[in-house]
Amino acid sequence: MSGFAVRGWCPDAWRPMAAGDGLLVRVKPRLGRLTRAELALLADASARFGNGLVDLTNRANLQLRGVSDAGWPALLDLLTAHALVDPDRTRERRRTLIVAPDWEQGDDTHRIATDLLARIDALPALPGKTGFVIDAGPAPLLRDAPGDFRIERGEAGGLILRAEGRGTGMPLAPGDEAAALARLARWFVDSGGVAAGRMARHTAPLPDWALGTEPPAAPRTAILPGAHPMGSAVGAPFGQMTADSLAVLAGQPIAAVRVTPWRVLLAEGPLAADPRFLADPADPLLRTDACAGAPACPQASVETRSLARALAPQVDGRLHVSGCAKGCARALPADVTVTGRNGLLDLAFDATAGAPPDHVGLEPAALLALLGKS
Ligand code: SF4
Repeated sequence: MSGFAVRGWCPDAWRPMAAGDGLLVRVKPRLGRLTRAELALLADASARFGNGLVDLTNRANLQLRGVSDAGWPALLDLLTAHALVDPDRTRERRRTLIVAPDWEQGDDTHRIATDLLARIDALPALPGKTGFVIDAGPAPLLRDAPGDFRIERGEAGGLILRAEGRGTGMPLAPGDEAAALARLARWFVDSGGVAAGRMARHTAPLPDWALGTEPPAAPRTAILPGAHPMGSAVGAPFGQMTADSLAVLAGQPIAAVRVTPWRVLLAEGPLAADPRFLADPADPLLRTDACAGAPACPQASVETRSLARALAPQVDGRLHVSGCAKGCARALPADVTVTGRNGLLDLAFDATAGAPPDHVGLEPAALLALLGKS
């Protein structure tokens, strides 16, 4: 593999990560929005430079899979020429923010995110996985989305600055939000946060100006497939799309899509039903995580996604099917976790992949029989 593929970082387009099927090239849509023209361009880029597979990540980014070392420079040129990637690699790395996906032009989320992006050159160098969350709608939507430095709607109705891992935040004056985020990020670095890696693990006492006592407001219901005041939302099974499914979206009578951290796309306009996407908010695949598995991943000894489709209707809570103990698709415990090992399946309840199982060495049919509702 070439020298530009770096492991151990949150990959971006300038620093793609090597996976079993080639390089992963991450695209961070600006304010989480992709126009129809951008969707068409990404569909074409995935087919031309990648293997036609595109991941939706839990940071509301897209990841083009299967890019070759030889094809990466031309792909990067294309993405930077169309402003999908910043031509400055440092700025691209710093552009790690998740926004409430249903923002509207000029509202608090839009205003603060735009302000933060305007200050990006003044932000400190942060560890690879740290990021900002701007969740300034009428109530929080992004409580479970990964982040370190948050702006959220507070219980009293105004906006608060909250450091990840702390239950309460500091109320902010309107207009001061982006500056406060930058100040908190600088304090994190100056107080030794880089060694901790993430804000939630950084135990240094917060400075007085960030030490508020206001809790976030009660969260809003997540955006699910179906009708939405902005248009309509659809789910991507296992967070995976293809060049074809992006092209289908680009052909719809919509202005753009918003990418969410929940493997759901919110379209600005109506979407026609398409079997590539989940349209039912109760679809059990929305509660199912499954990694690529065999044969796509060389570390997997079992197939995962067909098995997950068969198991999902039998499981009431969260289901995780993992090709091996690494658990790439889900770091948190799931109600039912199936982990592949030596070509067979281990079953565990309320566990992460690879945790001590309740049943070991099952064939798929035995697993289905064990979990079957009827
Ligand atoms: S969990 Fe294991 S099998 Fe699945 S993608 Fe990760 S390394 Fe591969």
